[in-house]
Amino acid sequence: MKFLIATHNRKKLSELKRILEPLGIEAVIASDIGMDISDPEETGLTFAENAKIKAACGCGETGLPCIADDSGLCIDALDGRPGVFSARYAGGHDTPYSHKMQVILDEMKDVADEDRTARFVSAVCCVFPDGREINAEGKCEGKIGYEPLGCGGFGYDPIFMVGDKSFAQLTDSEKDAVSHRGNALRLFVCELQKWAESEKL
Ligand code: IMP
Repeated sequence: MKFLIATHNRKKLSELKRILEPLGIEAVIASDIGMDISDPEETGLTFAENAKIKAACGCGETGLPCIADDSGLCIDALDGRPGVFSARYAGGHDTPYSHKMQVILDEMKDVADEDRTARFVSAVCCVFPDGREINAEGKCEGKIGYEPLGCGGFGYDPIFMVGDKSFAQLTDSEKDAVSHRGNALRLFVCELQKWAESEKL
């Protein structure tokens, strides 16, 4: 079965595809099928609500089962910020991540090592044309570093430390093995397999 991935974020798309395809999911984006889908306003208060908004919109506009991820970085010392506002933090979507990360490092400048705990969260939702949906959520626990490290990945990867390396210092497969998105998608595929068995597909 073909699944539409609803995202305009190219880096996120390549992570979604490289995790889903080995698990047997044929993933396409709107332009692969000659369509363009809207970028709906993310009005939800949770990652799960926003993932559902995006998946429902993509499915409604194309008639294909549609998978969307909504994700972000939650920092304990900042009361969970930037959270669902991760993409829009410190000025908005167009603010470069170098600036967004510096704002966070400045906000954290007096925070002691043991209080720098944070997690990335990913909510994945798939909406089917008959209205059914599958939801899964994954997390990755880590700490906020003291400076950006590494040049891989995207977004806040250079300041998110797992052990002594930042996400941006991991290879793609090292990141996928522990990341919030990897964890969410592996759960999602288990749920999808149960669904396919119950449908006798
Ligand atoms: P969304 O596209 O609205 O879900 O926004 C997710 C935002 O969270 C991204 O634009 C990044 O700022 C951040 N984010 C989510 N996942 C990651 C990741 O794996 N690495 C770095 N930043 C991430």
